[in-house]
Amino acid sequence: MSSVLLESVRKVFGTTVAVDEVNLEIATGDLFFLLGPSGCGKTTLLRMIAGFATPSGGRITIGDRDVTKLPAEKRDTGMVFQSYALWPHMSVRENVAFGLKVRKLERSRVDSEVDRALELVRMTDYAARKPNELSGGQQQRVALARALAFKPSILLLDEPLSNLDAKLRIEMRSEIRRIVDELGVTTIYVTHDQKEALSLADDMVVMRDGLVVQRGSPRELYTRPSSRFTADFLGETNLISAEIRGREDDRAVLSTVAGDVHSTAIVDTLPDKGNITLSIRPEALAIIHEGESVPEDSSVINGTLIDSIFLGEMAQHRVDIGGDVVLKVFQLNPRQLAPGSDIRLAIDPEDVVLLRD
Ligand code: ATP
Repeated sequence: MSSVLLESVRKVFGTTVAVDEVNLEIATGDLFFLLGPSGCGKTTLLRMIAGFATPSGGRITIGDRDVTKLPAEKRDTGMVFQSYALWPHMSVRENVAFGLKVRKLERSRVDSEVDRALELVRMTDYAARKPNELSGGQQQRVALARALAFKPSILLLDEPLSNLDAKLRIEMRSEIRRIVDELGVTTIYVTHDQKEALSLADDMVVMRDGLVVQRGSPRELYTRPSSRFTADFLGETNLISAEIRGREDDRAVLSTVAGDVHSTAIVDTLPDKGNITLSIRPEALAIIHEGESVPEDSSVINGTLIDSIFLGEMAQHRVDIGGDVVLKVFQLNPRQLAPGSDIRLAIDPEDVVLLRD
């Protein structure tokens, strides 16, 4: 198993800069995610690591080998494509064996490695079938087995679950986590699905226009986004304009249309005055019902309920806080509230994130 180092990696297609000076070190054994919207360059970056695209500049190192100029088959990477790319005329067993035969392994070794890979993805009983006799999820497992059969030190996954229905996607997520943990293989996973990344990643980056905009654990990126782009791309949020009033002890005091709120997030780099954008997650806003007290330390925002969508275990409310600002509020175990009601919202200063742009 190996680490992956990308230094100033760049890819230009004509006038399009698909990947722009990406610098990343991916730790051995991590399940690492490249997350971003369509066209941000994540597939191009993965293809350069695999050796299917040549960088316009920069260096790619796998373990202690500079692989920038090596052909794909010499890089010790296994790739799973979005479309699975299984050979339709070959059985499951032949598909999985293909890479091993190309590498000229002995027959008995090929057989035992194929058995091991099929067992790993729980497809032993389907070895004789052709791909068109399998469900989408089963084809995905075969594609994984084929990529893993020759024990690559790096596993590359390009939107591996995007052709599956919602239920199967969730099932396959845990399968991928299990397989990566069982093998300890360094895995780079490309997706535009933030739930996939948040639920699986050890470490991840958010990409935009060929650039890495932020890196961290799922929790860090979700709770401490540094830009509007990351805050908005990773889940839902409320973006509120505010004016910096100053500091009180460890917290910033910020003036919004609905009064002052406090923040303990990113206080160190805060200028003394000026305008800033706050990001507050809808689930971080707590409705304070009549007779309930506001948690100590929390700021309060008052508003009027516009409407609510009841979703069973939770409700999504829209609350008008004045000045044309409407907040989304997610409430677990919801009580019924009438549109037009006065609403008191409490917010913990830890959950008021200050954004750079
Ligand atoms: P998606 O999620 O839609 O696959 P992506 O983030 O993986 O998107 P890329 O496929 O890496 O994005 O594409 C990045 C940019 O490079 C896009 O603007 C795309 O049009 C362009 N691009 C990708 N491959 C080529 C190519 N072979 N020739 C010209 N432009 C390309």
